[in-house]
Amino acid sequence: MGKLFVISGASGVGKSTVLKKVMAQRNDLQFSVSATTRDPRPGEEDGVHYYYVSKETFAQMIAEDAFVEYSAHAANYYGTPKAQLEERLKLGNVILDIEPNGAFQVMGKREDVVLIFIMPPSMEELSRRLCSRGDTSPEQIKIRLQRADWEISQSARYHHIVINDQVDACANEILEIIANAVDK
Ligand code: 5GP
Repeated sequence: MGKLFVISGASGVGKSTVLKKVMAQRNDLQFSVSATTRDPRPGEEDGVHYYYVSKETFAQMIAEDAFVEYSAHAANYYGTPKAQLEERLKLGNVILDIEPNGAFQVMGKREDVVLIFIMPPSMEELSRRLCSRGDTSPEQIKIRLQRADWEISQSARYHHIVINDQVDACANEILEIIANAVDK
């Protein structure tokens, strides 16, 4: 069985860029594809970024106990399909990119999981990054910053906190955490 890693971090913290760098450095890491009720964004592909499902299908999957964890986030549902996770863990190590409610559900079920939280250098910098995207309304930015506040307040429950001040340094720190857990 492979090792399971959970990565969380607020919207705008640069998590997907860091994760891409981490995944590129290790071919024994697989990304678990979540199910979500939100619509695909431009450039996203079904089965690659997420499995895009209806609210009815998501509810059906909950009823069938098909999720390791699931949570509501920004008026949509997100969940980690159990069968897929088990399959991937048989093949190697797995990374889940999920928010804190889901992370703690996984921690309650699997004691060998490693939880990593990516922290922005400051709230000012997070706000600046969200604003500079240019595709997010001021109202949405406010909501995301409030949510970020809450996520950061949960970070003490993670095994590791890594600050994303500089992408390469952050990715290297995560690679070191993974190496320590897997290669020793
Ligand atoms: P986005 O809609 O921007 O792709 O993701 C929004 C949030 O949902 C992110 O914080 C992401 O980590 C989280 N998320 C993605 N997939 C899952 C999942 O399967 N379970 C949980 N609990 N959160 C998820």
